[in-house]
Amino acid sequence: MERKNAWKKYSKSEFEQVFEFSEKYRRFISDCKTERECVDEAVAMASRAGYKPLNNIIAAGEKLKAGDKVYAVNMNKAVILFQIGKKPLEEGMNILGAHIDSPRLDIKQNPLYEDSELVLLDTHYYGGIKKYQWVAMPMAIHGVVALKDGSIVNIVIGEDIADPVVGISDLLIHLASAQMDKKGSKVVEGEDLNVLVGSMPCVGDGECESDEKPDDEKDSVKKNILNILKEKYGIEEEDFLSAELEIVPAGPARDYGIDRSMIMGYGHDDRVCAYPSLEALLQVEGLERTGVCILVDKEEIGSVGATGMQSRFFENMAAEIMNCTGDYSELKLRRALANSNMLSSDVSAAFDPNYANVSEKKNSAFFGHGMVFNKYTGARGKSGSNDASAEYMGRLRKIMDEADVSFQTSELGKVDAGGGGTIAYILANLDMNVIDSGIAVQNMHAPYEVISKADLYETFKGYKAFLLHA
Ligand code: MN
Ligand code: MN
Repeated sequence: MERKNAWKKYSKSEFEQVFEFSEKYRRFISDCKTERECVDEAVAMASRAGYKPLNNIIAAGEKLKAGDKVYAVNMNKAVILFQIGKKPLEEGMNILGAHIDSPRLDIKQNPLYEDSELVLLDTHYYGGIKKYQWVAMPMAIHGVVALKDGSIVNIVIGEDIADPVVGISDLLIHLASAQMDKKGSKVVEGEDLNVLVGSMPCVGDGECESDEKPDDEKDSVKKNILNILKEKYGIEEEDFLSAELEIVPAGPARDYGIDRSMIMGYGHDDRVCAYPSLEALLQVEGLERTGVCILVDKEEIGSVGATGMQSRFFENMAAEIMNCTGDYSELKLRRALANSNMLSSDVSAAFDPNYANVSEKKNSAFFGHGMVFNKYTGARGKSGSNDASAEYMGRLRKIMDEADVSFQTSELGKVDAGGGGTIAYILANLDMNVIDSGIAVQNMHAPYEVISKADLYETFKGYKAFLLHA
């Protein structure tokens, strides 16, 4: 079954649309490097498209009707958008879901220390990473500090070209003979992912407290860093206790390849699915079935917790929506969920000729071949997989073909090579039709991942077709 390269089919104007859409996405991932930043931007985009906060509708006792658009935010780390369809909710929704958390290094709760007149931040990595990939490169600090008075300090250091960056050191090759003999998982170990943030002791007037002698004082470099944090952000060492600060690669995503056909950037997994899912819902109108876009946190660590897909947040909001349409009952809610269709979107492994031996070529995803459907994922004999039904895949093929969406099917590597999971099975537990779909990525979970612009565009088209016709 030969599947065509999507690039070959574009007219001049469609070719331009591919690059236009990709450029908007490139800016999105350059600005949004945490789940919180993705939620904030999603809310801003939704507001511009006429979406209203569901909380306000509920508080005002307003009703929702076909065509109305609302969103609900969960703890600033997940967001769900609804566009009410013409059919009763009981008949089911068409749901696009993706995750907006990405692998990174989280700063520990008690992170700051001085060693040999260097100041470092202790981290705990988040998600599955090859730790040796995260050293010796420019990194940025993104996140929030929650103060005792209830105020939130937003922090972004390392993105503006005038900002300093931070980073993690690597051992010089000249002294690395013992390190180079270690196996990959031990070359750099988790407890050694310490971020260097300063090397200068308190100097000059006004920087240090007047009764101290800066020169011989213990932890003078740390004191200087704390002074800077106090002055610039109004935070103290104790405030790290209630902070969520993430260390991520610094700088914008870039066009990749001399032909500019790809994008290299941090966090394609899974913002490359989240962004077109969001855009698709914002750009469609006149839906028959209620359209939903779910952007969740915590997928990379098992979809756990209040802001992960396993949380009751989605079911609660669906109940609220149903109530606002004046047609709520527990039984109708259960029917609405069971009658729904979902594209659970996450990245797939792009076939890579450098590592061809982990893939089985007939069932691999290729750059430029469009949106990917994975009937099942899982590992060691489909374990942990949501295996979508043949009937559902049959309907989706028809929708994609009629909308001229280039798509391909794939598995994550050879049968015994490994595997992975997504949020698909969680919604499938509600007895709805769910299939894994998404976009192929090279370097998955590395600091810089790569995607194809044609695949991004085809997937965006596929999501719109799904919302309108599934
Ligand atoms: Mn993912
Ligand atoms: Mn992942």
